[in-house]
Amino acid sequence: MKYNKCNGKLCKFCKEKTSILTLTTAKVSLCTSCFNNFFEKRVKETIEKYRMFDLKDKVGVFLSGGKDSTCLLTVLKKLYPELYLQGIYINLGIRYYSEIVEEVVKRLCQKLEVPLYVYNLPEKEGYFIDDFIFTSFKNKICSVCGTIKRHLFSKIARELGLTVIATGHHLDDTVSTMFTLFIQGDFSSLVKLSPVLPPLYPGQAKKVKPLYKTPEKEIFYYVTLNELPIETSNCPHEEITPIKRYKKIIEELEKENSQIKYQLLSIFNKKLIPLLKKTEEKKTEEKNLNTCIFCGELTSSYNKICGRCKRISLLEKIRDKTLEISVEEFNRKLEKLESSNYVLFDLRDKEDFDKSPIKGAVQISSDLVLEKKKKFYKFLKPYKKKILFFTCYSKKLGYLFTLKARKLGFEAYNLKDSENLDKGV
Ligand SMILES: [Zn+2]
Ligand SMILES: [Zn+2]
Repeated sequence: MKYNKCNGKLCKFCKEKTSILTLTTAKVSLCTSCFNNFFEKRVKETIEKYRMFDLKDKVGVFLSGGKDSTCLLTVLKKLYPELYLQGIYINLGIRYYSEIVEEVVKRLCQKLEVPLYVYNLPEKEGYFIDDFIFTSFKNKICSVCGTIKRHLFSKIARELGLTVIATGHHLDDTVSTMFTLFIQGDFSSLVKLSPVLPPLYPGQAKKVKPLYKTPEKEIFYYVTLNELPIETSNCPHEEITPIKRYKKIIEELEKENSQIKYQLLSIFNKKLIPLLKKTEEKKTEEKNLNTCIFCGELTSSYNKICGRCKRISLLEKIRDKTLEISVEEFNRKLEKLESSNYVLFDLRDKEDFDKSPIKGAVQISSDLVLEKKKKFYKFLKPYKKKILFFTCYSKKLGYLFTLKARKLGFEAYNLKDSENLDKGV
């Protein structure tokens, strides 16, 4: 779909208004209202075709502040104003991120008049996702986060009495994940890509994907055209995953064949998934699910401790989880340190660095944070045995450097009130 290639042509559907975008999958140019109708109709057809829910259901949507879940909640409310809908936000305690997203999600739910339930992980459970930077999972924060979120999805759905959880997985997600899992040989996970996942045990909510057939680009346009509130900044832990790489490959294929995503989806859905389901069902029957001795959720683990609880137990051993310190604490630390044992990196622009230098600081370009791990490591290597401190106008940026350095095994801290540093020396 392209915004600019319709050259003021009339809308193909209503033949009245000027078109503003062209769908790449169908090669038609549409006006805003016809696009909205087309978009919503496809979601409705998907919901009906796979019998995702009916009006007796209580449907929950976990909101991430991103375009997919935002779009999903909006379309569900519009298509089914009578449906019992519940927005849910999990505040995972990711500094410089979770709080900002919470505000965006609140705005969305107010706009749509959908009730919002906020689950604050640090308040309820006493830890932050960021704390995993101190564990062996420091380079797999996204996967830990996924495990914890999945646990919370079922727990919260049960507590709120939801019968259905709708997620924002779209066509591009599904196809690129299929590719990745296929290449990794992880066939048992492929089954989870079905548009509907029935409950594993009585009382568990059914999981459904109403955007299963919607291309990602169209979600982007829907959100933009309808001015829906979304958070565009990335999570500080976001990484380039194999899935994103395959997404790009599939986009290249799409240039040759505009129907490629639908074709792949159809092959997987009609041929492969039914085959896999048969063998998987057998396996689950044989697998003997237990309840976790700590949290009570189902687990296939033989020692009856689920993946989430195993990971959380790692946090108990860590005494100091400090990633940010005040200038006062910084100065106190320095009293005990030789100057050769630490380095203070100043991430401000060169101009500001020259104008008001900070005593003993080394100026580095903040662009370094965008570099790949290898290059970042090469830069920090000479400081391997030192404690690293970062200072910047933007606290988030200093924090990103701190996280990146920690992931590489450095002891690093962000200064959270840099304005109090000694200047002009
Ligand atoms: Zn039209
Ligand atoms: Zn558990």
